[in-house]
Order: sequence, then structure tokens, then C-alpha cells
Amino acid sequence: MTDVRRAQLSDNLARVEDRIAAACAAAGRARDEVTLIVVTKTYPASDVRLLAELGVRHVAENRDQDAAPKAAECADLPLTWHFVGQLQTNKVRSVARYAGMVQSIDRLRLVTALSKEAVRTERELGCLIQVALDAESGQQGDRGGTAPDAVPALAEAIAGAQGLRLDGVMTVAPLSGPYAGRQLAAFERLMEISTDLRATHPAANMVSAGMSADLEDAIRAGATHVRVGTAVLGVRPRLG
Ligand SMILES: *Cc1c(COP(=O)(O)O)cnc(C)c1O
Repeated sequence: MTDVRRAQLSDNLARVEDRIAAACAAAGRARDEVTLIVVTKTYPASDVRLLAELGVRHVAENRDQDAAPKAAECADLPLTWHFVGQLQTNKVRSVARYAGMVQSIDRLRLVTALSKEAVRTERELGCLIQVALDAESGQQGDRGGTAPDAVPALAEAIAGAQGLRLDGVMTVAPLSGPYAGRQLAAFERLMEISTDLRATHPAANMVSAGMSADLEDAIRAGATHVRVGTAVLGVRPRLG
């Protein structure tokens, strides 16, 4: 079974790699400007182990209940774990133990809580601000994320927080609002937000955007990181 699964994952990874390379070429970008993060949610630790053997170095999860035991089983592997789901403050203590990067920061309370845990565990946590392009000022998106106009204040808070490193921005293409069905426009808007952020925080140059269905649009817009689940691991058995 392991050999069959390994071959499947290897084929899928090769196909995704071809897509990323083609999208970089079409955009006039170097292949090494884009990092693949494989979203392993709902799939077992055995798959994570195979992916690491196949050369994957970045994996992402969106639920702490699933991610914590999986990361513990895979603690010997040379992987960076990205947390990409909506994060409750009562899960921060657990997430801060295994995550190298939290991509879903969308409110000040989370900054305070993450900073406290990072200091306590003496780890530095990379932080991305999740932007909800469907959220009005003062609101949050359906899939998490903060309204664009709250990015500067969150950026200041992260940059000033002990144990946290402000690395950039992240988005999930919205299903509703003016950007629904317009992935390229959504990712271009995220790039504008990234440009504004870099004016005051030049090192915060990560732009995490694009999933299995729209990674080409994200790369065309300028994404530095794509988060790919289904195209590598297969269609998830349940919503995750
Ligand atoms: C599940 C998920 C992905 C990957 O989605 P696919 O369509 O399976 O590639 C990317 N980003 C986030 C935040 C996710 O929750």
C-alpha cells in the first residue's frame, strides 16, 4: 500500500511542480520565487512522512485537533508546519508548540496570545496577516481574515510583539462579495496590500495565495507561497 501511495503522491507532486514551473515561466518569474506548501489536512501522518521523503519541506494544517498529534508523530522530519485555519485563542498554546508559521492572524487578541506562548516556549513564530477581501471595515471574512483596512494596525502589533516575526500576508479567494469568482483580481488586490505593507515593513515580503484550483492566478499576481492540498493528496473525504 505504501508503495502505491508513494507513487501516487510522487505523480501528483510532479504534476503540481509542472504547473508551478509553467506559471512562473508565463509570468516571467524565476521558479525559486515560489514555494510549495502542501496542505495535509484530513490526511494521515503516513502521507506526511511520504511527502517528506519525496522532498516536501512545508506542510499546512487548519485544525489543531488533527494537526497536533500528526505533527508530534512527524517531529523527526525536516518540515516547517504552517497553521492556516481559523484559530481560537484557546488553541494557541498547542499550535505554538509545532507551528513555525501562523498564516491566519486576523485580530489583535491572537497577536497577544501567540506572543505570550512564543516567549514561554522560547520559539520564534513567523506570522502572516490573513486578509479577507470580502470583509467590510471592522468585520471578518466568512473564512476568517481581517478587513484590509485593519492590516496596518495588526502589522504594528506583530512587529512590536516579542517572539513574533512579521512575514507578510495571506488570503483565500473569497466566495462572495466583489471578488467572488475573480481569483486573479483578488490576488492582485492582495499584492497591493503587500506592497503597502512592505513600504513600512520591507522584510514582510511573503504573499501566500493560491490553492489547487487557482495557483496559476496567484503566481501570475506575484504570490511567493502557494498552498496546495487536493492536487497533491486527492479529493478530501470530508470538508476540511
Ligand atoms: C484546504 C486549504 C487549502 C488547500 O486547498 P485545495 O483546494 O485542497 O488545494 C489552502 N489554503 C487553506 C487556508 C485551506 O484551508
